[in-house]
Amino acid sequence: MLKLEAIKTYYGNIQALKGVSLEVQTGEIITLIGANGAGKTTTLMSISGIVPPRTGEIYFMGKPISRVNPDKIVAMGISQVPEGRRIFPYLSVLENLDMGAFLRKDKRDIQADLDYVFSLFPILAERRNQAGGTLSGGEQQMLAISRALMARPRLLLLDEPSLGLAPLIVKQIFEIIKKINRENNTTIFLVEQNANLALKVAHRGYVMENGKITLADSAESLLANEAVKKAYLGI
Ligand code: ATP
Repeated sequence: MLKLEAIKTYYGNIQALKGVSLEVQTGEIITLIGANGAGKTTTLMSISGIVPPRTGEIYFMGKPISRVNPDKIVAMGISQVPEGRRIFPYLSVLENLDMGAFLRKDKRDIQADLDYVFSLFPILAERRNQAGGTLSGGEQQMLAISRALMARPRLLLLDEPSLGLAPLIVKQIFEIIKKINRENNTTIFLVEQNANLALKVAHRGYVMENGKITLADSAESLLANEAVKKAYLGI
């Protein structure tokens, strides 16, 4: 479904990605783990077209997308949930969700998707008229995921969904991530600093160091890998 071929991405003169290649198959949950500054967020930004790669190519459903505008990439079926959630604090829950569907014209299906996200996160239905900024951190993460789902993505990019949240909330959110994958066959690309958690929900994982992929394996094997345990699992 998604293929990155030797992509190199820069911020001005700073090279953040030094030739990243990876693949994601339809229906998978894959995770990209690595230390702070390794280039995980930049990989997501490259896929979503916000920071396009300077060289290399990204293919989505067989089509090259590295020169495609971010809004077109959303329309093709890729939605990103940014790090730090970035919901609209002064808009209501419902208005935030409407923003996620802004490229769509199929009004009846939008209502069905709204019902679906409210079934995933009933608390959002209760708070539908409340301003986004008044929600708790966990509820804001739920809203950010729901907003991305309102674009009906085939591929959902999640950047650090566990960041700054209490363990119980994180557990709840990860259960829902599995559910979204299972029920809708939505493919999920998960970036996490919490490698232990990420490898427990993912089918496969990639390890990134200093702008490069250094390991690729099944999540199970990565969890058992001595080097991974030492560097990322605190064992
Ligand atoms: P984190 O978990 O902190 O988000 P990360 O693995 O996602 O880490 P990136 O945010 O992708 O890492 O950063 C990769 C490299 O690019 C780092 O060296 C970082 O300093 C640099 N970088 C990131 N954003 C910018 C920017 N806007 N301008 C310049 N350099 C940047």
